[in-house]
Amino acid sequence: MAPIERHYIGGVFVAPLGRERFALHNPATGLQFGEVVLGDERDIDRAVAAAAEAFVSFSRTTPAERAGVLAALETAVAARREALTEAMVLEFGAPIALAGWMADHAASVFADMRRTLREYAFVRPIGIADVVMTPLGVTGLITPWNGNASAICGKLAAAIAAGCTSVVKPSELSAHQTDVLCEAFAAAGLAPGLVNIVTGRGEVAGAALAAHPGVAKLSFTGSTAVGKAIAREAVSTMKRVTLELGGKSPVLVLDDADLASCLPLAVQAGFMNSGQACVAGTRLLVPRAKRAEIEDALVAICAAIPVGDPRDPATAIGPLVSQRQWDRVEGYIGRGVAEGAELLAGGEGRPDGLTGWFVRPTVFGSANNAMTIAREEIFGPVIALIAYDGEEEAISIANDSDYGLQAYVFSSDPARARRVAERLDAGRVLINTLAHEPDAPFGGFKQSGIGREFGSYGLEAFLEPKAIIGVREAMA
Ligand code: NAD
Repeated sequence: MAPIERHYIGGVFVAPLGRERFALHNPATGLQFGEVVLGDERDIDRAVAAAAEAFVSFSRTTPAERAGVLAALETAVAARREALTEAMVLEFGAPIALAGWMADHAASVFADMRRTLREYAFVRPIGIADVVMTPLGVTGLITPWNGNASAICGKLAAAIAAGCTSVVKPSELSAHQTDVLCEAFAAAGLAPGLVNIVTGRGEVAGAALAAHPGVAKLSFTGSTAVGKAIAREAVSTMKRVTLELGGKSPVLVLDDADLASCLPLAVQAGFMNSGQACVAGTRLLVPRAKRAEIEDALVAICAAIPVGDPRDPATAIGPLVSQRQWDRVEGYIGRGVAEGAELLAGGEGRPDGLTGWFVRPTVFGSANNAMTIAREEIFGPVIALIAYDGEEEAISIANDSDYGLQAYVFSSDPARARRVAERLDAGRVLINTLAHEPDAPFGGFKQSGIGREFGSYGLEAFLEPKAIIGVREAMA
């Protein structure tokens, strides 16, 4: 494919000032299919300058005008569904059914935020003050490869709804998805500089954005280690931060759960996005008395999971994104074996007949919560099954983690599941479902992050309250 040699800055496509050429590989084969020229600090500087200029007028637009921008973006992104789906399959090996859902999601987040905007009160009387929710300024939006398009669109939707302008630094592994989005943004008739996109390395372009004195707010989705580095850098100019980081989500199967319906969902939660999901339910907590029965069921479920060509609509698990990620996940599987967990399904090495960056969907039985496979985010299709004695112990194991992004509870008694949910340290708890609620807040407790995205909580992350006192009665 033709190399990508352009950024989107100031409302036009421009040649990068950075010179590094970065090879793009198809994870299903491991072969190179393309190349992108990466931006550097100078590209970030240009983009921040364009965003700062645009902020002067965009910050004064009305919510109705901004709702119009969101509608244009939804239409433009939806019109490129096929190209976006294709880019996701090609560059990170997303199974095609999932890639289609993710492409739809990248468009629908603009409609979701338009709904929020309609209901949101930007001015609220408090005592003798008018509290005016004010756009923060130029925002820096940094996204990961495993959900690049929806992260870009979700963050932009909230920033635009607030009246902010943005510089996006997408993952360097997602250049094709990003290029499709740039075409959508160019077609949407945006004000020049409202949205600027520079693909570059994290430690170069990302770090320059995080340190830039012209940026007022950073919204980052990625690993906890990089999130900490960004937060340290942000404080030097007191940038506001939203950090959406990693997870090690527990799945609590209570002793009254209907195993036939819940175990397939539990496995799906663990293996979603081929295991490359921040919300993956990778610690499966089961009642000890039912462990043998559950293990037998998991072996049967895993044996029937279609792993392979991401273009086959039947495929549930595709390859991992890169050789680096493959090495990392294989290392964790080896570590699980070395620490004494028993392999119920999968294990080291590729599934038979596959040559790309595929790993075998793996379930460890007899794991415990102190093992590395239960504590660290693996980011591949690896589930650790941990037996518990009694509901109290299940809650205690679930909360014994550095992370707190999402949790899952399965029970045939919704009131009991709700009581358990209230005691879990997690930004979201899903009971007997894997459903998404686009208007409810999303984000993590503990080291899974700071702040929330989506709905009014996500909008407020781009706003600063300003109390104006002394004029309301005089003007009445
Ligand atoms: P990553 O942290 O390596 O990279 C994320 C982004 O940060 C990329 O754009 C990268 O180029 C950039 N970056 C890297 N170093 C940087 C630096 N020093 N300064 C500024 N930017 C830098 O993460 P990844 O491997 O791309 O994505 C996987 C991680 O993202 C997992 O940990 C996953 O859990 C997390 N994630 C979290 C959520 C969430 O909403 N909580 C969603 C998706 C992914």
